[in-house]
Amino acid sequence: MKLISRRLLSSWGKTAELLFFPSFCELCRALLEEPGEKVVCRRCREKVRRLAAPFCPCCGGFFEVGVEPHLCQTCLGKEPLLARHRSLARYEGHVKEVILLFKFRGFKILGDWLGDLLADNLGNDDDLWEGVEALVPVPLHPRKERARGFNQAQILARRLAKHKSLSLLERRLIKVVNVPAQTSLEAEERENNVRGAFRARKAKDLKGKTILLVDDVYTTGSTLRECSLVLRKAGAREVRAVTVAQA
Ligand SMILES: [Zn+2]
Ligand SMILES: [Zn+2]
Repeated sequence: MKLISRRLLSSWGKTAELLFFPSFCELCRALLEEPGEKVVCRRCREKVRRLAAPFCPCCGGFFEVGVEPHLCQTCLGKEPLLARHRSLARYEGHVKEVILLFKFRGFKILGDWLGDLLADNLGNDDDLWEGVEALVPVPLHPRKERARGFNQAQILARRLAKHKSLSLLERRLIKVVNVPAQTSLEAEERENNVRGAFRARKAKDLKGKTILLVDDVYTTGSTLRECSLVLRKAGAREVRAVTVAQA
């Protein structure tokens, strides 16, 4: 009897919520009516998934479907600054929309979900994880972080560290120059734009370690390569990276 009345109450609660405080998917405007649905509906979330395309085992760049996995031209040419990189998908469609909602519209809760998604989809990639001792989020300049209210990379990294039971090294890599937004710059300009923008702190925590950098988007890789360089100069043994999406 008690169980029935509780169920009745909770279904009444849900009906009242839908009637008086309806919320809608930020992407398709569908009514969010399933339990636990927040910001983006289940159908739209299901479209954010791992891209089933072959990729370069070193930089993680995706190839067209049907090509055998192989080292890409860039990674064949010279020893890369990042030992490995993986991302979930290309920066387009629903993946891009969700990242934009997370970063620029302040829906922090989507960051937790994206972190879970990274862990679920890339958490078993031994090539990426084997030997990793700590996670480091790509930092924002303090002024930018204050304006946004959070660092998106930190939210993703915290979630991943929890899933993988690894330590998270926060504030060991800091951004000391508030460089202009990278989006409008060409690849070479991006490289120059970030040079000297990062600094390592408490280098003893980094010494001899294999570090995995975490960020939301990999565009030309210039930010991650610069971070890797700084961490390696501070004594890190090897630096790899994981991102949600690559442009
Ligand atoms: Zn939707
Ligand atoms: Zn490559």
